[in-house]
Amino acid sequence: MSNLTRDFFYGLSKNKFLNENAKKWGFKLGAEKFVAGTNLESVTKVIKELNRHGISGTIDNLGEFVSDSREATKAKNEIIRILDRIHEENLDCHLSIKITQLGLDIDQDFCMANVREIVETAYQYDIFVNIDMEDYSRYEKTMEVLQILRGDYPNVGTVMQSYLLRAEEDLDRLQDVRMRIVKGAYKESPGVAYQSKEEIDRNFIKLAKKRLLGDAFTSIATHDHHIINELKAFVREHNISRDNFEFQMLYGFRKEMQYDLAKEGYRFCTYIPFGTDWFGYYMRRIAERPQNLGIVAKDMLYTSDNKLKKEPIIGGAVAVSLLYLLRKSRKKKDK
Ligand SMILES: Cc1cc2nc3c(=O)[nH]c(=O)nc-3n(C[C@H](O)[C@H](O)[C@H](O)COP(=O)(O)OP(=O)(O)OC[C@H]3O[C@@H](n4cnc5c(N)ncnc54)[C@H](O)[C@@H]3O)c2cc1C
Repeated sequence: MSNLTRDFFYGLSKNKFLNENAKKWGFKLGAEKFVAGTNLESVTKVIKELNRHGISGTIDNLGEFVSDSREATKAKNEIIRILDRIHEENLDCHLSIKITQLGLDIDQDFCMANVREIVETAYQYDIFVNIDMEDYSRYEKTMEVLQILRGDYPNVGTVMQSYLLRAEEDLDRLQDVRMRIVKGAYKESPGVAYQSKEEIDRNFIKLAKKRLLGDAFTSIATHDHHIINELKAFVREHNISRDNFEFQMLYGFRKEMQYDLAKEGYRFCTYIPFGTDWFGYYMRRIAERPQNLGIVAKDMLYTSDNKLKKEPIIGGAVAVSLLYLLRKSRKKKDK
């Protein structure tokens, strides 16, 4: 995909107006393929189904970059409700949170109090809480929140993005913390992040191998079969216990591969986003994977019986832009 198209979708993912309006649209634009419903009932059903296949889950109550304290408190209460549900129904599932949803951009103490309440509740229920890593401007603060919580709770960990130049050094300091390794989903500058796929992939493999040789639990979060196969071989070669790591993928991606890895006896965990605030998450997934472009644009413009939609105008405008960019990137490829 051209950088122009990728930048376009990153831009959309952060657009406040579109994010707000998408909440009112409900599931449109094909988002239901990657988001497990808008409420706790739908996500519970999804987890139970995954658990039946020997797959655990990590739930993400969608929403980020919150700037209103009432909204942050509402999100915190919703997350506590999720924890209650996991506990009551004995689901094989943990939690993923984004601290900008809990007030990081409003006030750090307020955010800390919200996160602490969540981690404390999860601790009582023996549930792990992963603090997702967001864009680089929140990196230091996220690590600070992690360090403070680690002083009081063992059930909390975070994510390392292999595109970060500082990833290896930081990971070395966090050897005893449960970590998820990812490539990184945001657009970062060359001053802080590798830009080429080759460098990001190479660093991912390096970080994952280093972690696998250590003691703390590691989640290897990627859909990249080249990386997964290389790490499977590494685990065999070094006789690494399968209890010390898991593979993770996002809900709706490579479902067969998810089930196959679980059948092969690897620990597998599916990242399950749900809720009304799906737009930013969904646009980042499209920025990463051009193949979804066509599906999305079609879903925006046409109903399931192939009739042109009359609403919403904004969806139409976005769809036309998508189709324009799609055609442009295809033409470029053809040349
Ligand atoms: C569980 C999970 C949690 C995450 N948490 C975070 C987080 O906290 N912070 C953050 O910044 N990012 C997070 N990410 C996103 C991550 O950083 C990447 O942006 C995203 O996973 C895309 O990279 P990839 O490793 O999956 O493979 P890509 O680099 O997108 O793809 C590599 C190759 O894999 C194959 N492939 C990929 N997807 C498919 C598919 N659907 N079907 C067929 N083949 C495919 C293709 O051959 C492709 O060329 C998370 C990802 C996962 C899976």
